[in-house]
Order: sequence, then C-alpha cells, then structure tokens
Amino acid sequence: MASLREDLVEYSKKLSEKNMVIGPGGNTSIREGDFMYIKPSGLSFPELTVDDLVEVEIATGTVTPHHLKPSSEVLLHLYIYQVRDVNCIFHAHPPFVNGITARDIPFRHMFPDSVVYLGRTIPVIDYCVPCTETLAEYVRDNFQDSLAIVLKNHGAITVGENPKTAYLRMEILEGLAYTIWIAKSINDVTPLSYLSDQDIEDVLALDSEKYRQNLLKDKK
Ligand SMILES: [Zn+2]
Repeated sequence: MASLREDLVEYSKKLSEKNMVIGPGGNTSIREGDFMYIKPSGLSFPELTVDDLVEVEIATGTVTPHHLKPSSEVLLHLYIYQVRDVNCIFHAHPPFVNGITARDIPFRHMFPDSVVYLGRTIPVIDYCVPCTETLAEYVRDNFQDSLAIVLKNHGAITVGENPKTAYLRMEILEGLAYTIWIAKSINDVTPLSYLSDQDIEDVLALDSEKYRQNLLKDKK
C-alpha cells in the first residue's frame, strides 16, 4: 500500500496535469502525527518526489534540516493544521476560479456535485500579498469550517482527510468555475441560475450523497 506521502506526490502531480498550476506555482502538504510534509520551494509538481518533501513540526514551525527549503507558503499550511482537524492541504492557481473571481462574478453552487464535495458555502476572500504571515492569518481566520476557500486574484485552497479528497475538491472547484464561465459566456444578459439554499440542503440530506461522502473519507 502506498504511503500518505506517496499519495501526496501522486495527486499533487495531477494539479499540473489538469492545468491547475503553472510552473513551480502551488503547494501541497500532508499531516503525519506532529509533523507536516510539504512541497519544497521552487520545484514544480512534475519533478516532485517523496524525498523532496520537507518535514516541519506543526506546533512550532521548526523545519527539519533538508537539502531543500519548504514552500514559501509554509505558514499558510502550518496555520491551518494548527487550528483544523484536516490531514491534507492543496493550494493551486486554477485559471477558471481566478477568472471568475477576478470579474467579481458570485462564486456559488450551480450543480449538486459541488454541494456534495465542497459543502454549503465556499468563502471568497480579498486579495492579500502571497507568502506572507498576513495571508496565512487571513486564510486561517476565514477558513474554519468550509472545505474550500477562494483567494481572489490568486487561487484556491482545499482540505481533505487524504490527498485524493483534497485533490478531488480542487478539481470540483475548478469544474464549478468552468460551469459558471460557460453559463456567463452563452448569455451575459439574463441572471445566472444558481442552486438555492433549499436546493443545497436537499442535496446534503440525500442518503446516496452521504454514502459518497463517507466513501471518500475511507479511501486513501
Ligand atoms: Zn499561490
């Protein structure tokens, strides 16, 4: 069975394959006990190996000596692990998500799958300078309950029980943005049709969707 770190590398590479990051952009990490293992700075996902992952103690931020430096967004990951019970964090720059939010088009559910995988609400927060403690604090304070958060003019973060789930949420998020873009492109005159609050509650109450959500938690 593949280790969690091997899973992290495998699913991280999909971010590049699906064009959700460009070049060395984006970063991912996994929690194992008191430590997190994070992508190093400056390396792109296609060239990433398990040995490149940098070990950082979650409580203190102490970096275990390594031949590579941790991602410049190390604080972003650290601050989320310090306050949330999640095992994996994916940060990417999906172009449709960025395009939609750069135009201030409301980023809301438009089809049932996004409700199931991303939960009731997807917060969108204002732009903040990347790689800063200010951004890490801003994200931590606005990302207490949701499974995905959008950083305006920058990208998105998803969390999960494992790399597969965090990746899947990023894929669904970009799929939602793509759908909104299509709807907006076909007809820019009439209002966009989003799911209502009641529609969202009805989907979340479906037994079949609870089954799918539980299945995700159990898988690697
Ligand atoms: Zn970024």
